[in-house]
Amino acid sequence: MFVNPPFIACPYCGKDTYGISVIGDNEYYRRCSDCQRPYGWEQVDGYPLPSLKKKVIYLDQFVISNILKAFNHELSKNLPNETVGLWKHFFSTISCLSKGQFIVCPHSEAHVDESLMVPYFGMLKKLYEHISHGTSFLPYHLIRHNQIYQLAEQWINQQTSYKLDLRVSGIINGSINAWQDKYYFSFPKDYLQETLEAKRRGRKRVASDLKHIFERWQSQKDRSFDDWFKEEAMSYGPTVWNIFVEYLKKCSYLHGKGMTKELAKLEEPMATDIVLSARLAFERKGLSQDHSLSMADAFFQSDALMRVPFNEISALMWAALARKAATGQKRPPNQGMNKDVETISILLPYCDAMFIDNECYSLLNEQPIKGKLNWNARLFCLNNISEFEQYTTMIMDNASPEHLKALKEVYGDNWQTPSTHIFN
Ligand SMILES: [Zn+2]
Repeated sequence: MFVNPPFIACPYCGKDTYGISVIGDNEYYRRCSDCQRPYGWEQVDGYPLPSLKKKVIYLDQFVISNILKAFNHELSKNLPNETVGLWKHFFSTISCLSKGQFIVCPHSEAHVDESLMVPYFGMLKKLYEHISHGTSFLPYHLIRHNQIYQLAEQWINQQTSYKLDLRVSGIINGSINAWQDKYYFSFPKDYLQETLEAKRRGRKRVASDLKHIFERWQSQKDRSFDDWFKEEAMSYGPTVWNIFVEYLKKCSYLHGKGMTKELAKLEEPMATDIVLSARLAFERKGLSQDHSLSMADAFFQSDALMRVPFNEISALMWAALARKAATGQKRPPNQGMNKDVETISILLPYCDAMFIDNECYSLLNEQPIKGKLNWNARLFCLNNISEFEQYTTMIMDNASPEHLKALKEVYGDNWQTPSTHIFN
């Protein structure tokens, strides 16, 4: 077992070789690197650590990508020279706050998907895993399930207002408020060439769809923000339901014809799982299977779906983009916009802060969106990076003396040194 500094006097042999062996969520253990005590069979108490309340900060993929470029000689050619210092400083801040157990920056499926688009995927993966210390948001479809299930439970109870449990601990892999071990090991992962190509094709298709939708919006000069919002927000439920019904019809057709091979190959759409979440909520409230099916039909056609956070936020953002198109914006959104809207609409309610691109930031600060977003997350982008500086300084300034003492005790004096070694 590794024994790490800082060392104190060993209570068994008296030498200054009693170091840190294990860091647990809220306690740590020591062992002597010389006499190796305590032995495995000796019962010892851990050293308690103060409880944590880390800020959950989401960093958009462009942040991860630019940090890597700033530190990598080969890739830095793709980064404007004058911003290299900015990104190096950004990394130092994040690294220091993370090593200080003040923040956690979980990675998401957006980081994985976007990173896969470039040949240096492995380096990006190592970086976002380092920054997140292995914590990650659940895949987006599971977060949707979580929200739909809760909404369905409240809808069937005939509640008139909905209040969902949006604690981040419910949608994360790994623990947020845990003292981190010194090391996080990132293992390379190989993706099949087919998977990569399918993802790239998917991204191109989405970009082309978006261009057509944008053209439609450009021609709709007489519509209001609210018209677009309602259209967008009300389309989610029926779309899910229709995909589900189409899938059932196909299954039943193939089954009726005895085409078992084709039936086995039929890919189950994600919408099926979303419908299942609602039905599960209904059946747990005592509805029969038949009844849960008919109620799911009514549920997905209802305006309750407008109140589910991921759908509401995304509809607000698309409505703002539609308004831009109708009021003269010529350039369609870039091909990353779809993933950005998805990421923000799904993760915003769970984060304390999000660092996003300038375009999404300004979109979220337009009225009526700004007024309708009742979430606590602070939003930052390059255009207001000085506010981000203030925010991170404030986090550090608010550290309690016990916390700072524990940091020194467990990680030593150099806990404030950014982990730039990961770029070597
Ligand atoms: Zn000893």
